Amino acid sequence: MDLHELWKTALADIELSVSRPNFITWFKDTRIASFDGGKMVVSVPNGFAKEWLQNKYNKFVVKAVRSLAPEIREIEYAIGDVAPQSAAHDRSIKSAPRRTFEAFPQYLDQLDLKEALVNPTTNLNPRYTFQNFVVGSFNEFAHAAAQSIVKKPGGVYNPLFIYGGVGLGKTHLIQAIGNALIGEQPSAKVRYVSSEKYMGEIVDALKTQEMQQLKERYRNFDLLIVDDIQFIGKTEKMQEEFFHTFNALYERNKQIVISSDRPPAAIPTLEARLRSRFEGGMMADLGEPDFETRLIILKKKLEEKQVHIDDEVLFLIAQNIKNNIRELEGVLNKIVLMSKMANTPVTVDETKKILNQLIYAPKKFATPKKVIKTISDFYEISEKDLVNSSRKKEMVRPRQITMYVLRDDLKCSFPFIGEKLGKKDHTTAIHAYKKIKNELKVNQDLEEELKLIRERIFTS
Ligand code: ADP
Ligand code: MG
Repeated sequence: MDLHELWKTALADIELSVSRPNFITWFKDTRIASFDGGKMVVSVPNGFAKEWLQNKYNKFVVKAVRSLAPEIREIEYAIGDVAPQSAAHDRSIKSAPRRTFEAFPQYLDQLDLKEALVNPTTNLNPRYTFQNFVVGSFNEFAHAAAQSIVKKPGGVYNPLFIYGGVGLGKTHLIQAIGNALIGEQPSAKVRYVSSEKYMGEIVDALKTQEMQQLKERYRNFDLLIVDDIQFIGKTEKMQEEFFHTFNALYERNKQIVISSDRPPAAIPTLEARLRSRFEGGMMADLGEPDFETRLIILKKKLEEKQVHIDDEVLFLIAQNIKNNIRELEGVLNKIVLMSKMANTPVTVDETKKILNQLIYAPKKFATPKKVIKTISDFYEISEKDLVNSSRKKEMVRPRQITMYVLRDDLKCSFPFIGEKLGKKDHTTAIHAYKKIKNELKVNQDLEEELKLIRERIFTS
């Protein structure tokens, strides 16, 4: 096995244990820079990433890497732009002693080619197409609506509002609309943007006083696709900008496509005027695929990979991963890589092991509600006392621990945490998080306490 494959496999594993946005933020553009005996150096793009990987994700990295190469004792992160195929690096890798892995020049390839293919003008990723989108009863309607938009953008299905849970194909479907439209009308001006990116653009434009240019740019699209609208900021400015852009496009019969993890009425931060605009168009939800469809999806994904996986293994995956197509794909990728590495088909038992790890992996199944309930039970206080802003001394600590867990394990945002616990602002949450984090470094009892709490949260 080569370093590139090793890292790819490790990443496939890590991807399953951290949230998608975090995975992309912190692991994009990482590579194995060197591997020398027991020590592996991971190259990261900047100091920020280095710090985060070291402090926050090291445990995942260690676990993933050592499950593949137990001889690795130490992992270091180094900032370095390892230019693809640079001669200098070629030399250094060749002179590094070979142990288990063969030196392999392509190890410098971009980690995530998928992300790298994104078209800078449209921001679309060409891998999201209708051709590779599997249709079943769970997404039939949304798929039909999406296709009819390609035939007649700006027609009756405007805006199209697609909603559904994580990993059920929202991004894939809405980007497929963009890609298909460009296929049919190459001159069409299409823009795909996540609501977070859109807000970032607004902030930048405000800073550089280029708001007018941004406005004009956005009002000239034939098809504007906004992903994950539920993250649109509470601030009036953001929604106002979007509202005006929306209207400008709508009035000119330009197509707008929006996605969200829930229907408009269930997005608490959404202004009423935007909500009613969204509800005025076509809404379609993505449900969860049934067993047969899950199996078809697996087979379809496998076609691209030129490797044979036993049907029995596929069955097992389809049986166990029920409500997230991204996870379905993640497990398949892992199995494919394992099989390639070992050069033998992966057995049913090995698959079971992977599935077990995944199904019992923490962080997957806890909700803030569960965290709050578990922690109040643990300290024998009422949930109400815990989440209220009461200053009673005996509440302060459990509340800080709750904030810590919400942040550290569930990756909730600080504003969200502050709001949930006593309607405090985000600085309170940050303070609590830091306090517990620092204390954990020196206080073993607290560490034990937290371990018990986590066990209850994630295994019961
Ligand atoms: P969401 O945006 O709803 O969280 P994504 O669109 O990112 O989900 O989908 C997650 C992964 O599952 C992607 O890799 C996507 O290609 C794949 N996927 C989702 N739905 C389908 C489908 N119907 N057919 C094939 N692949 C799918
Ligand atoms: Mg998405």
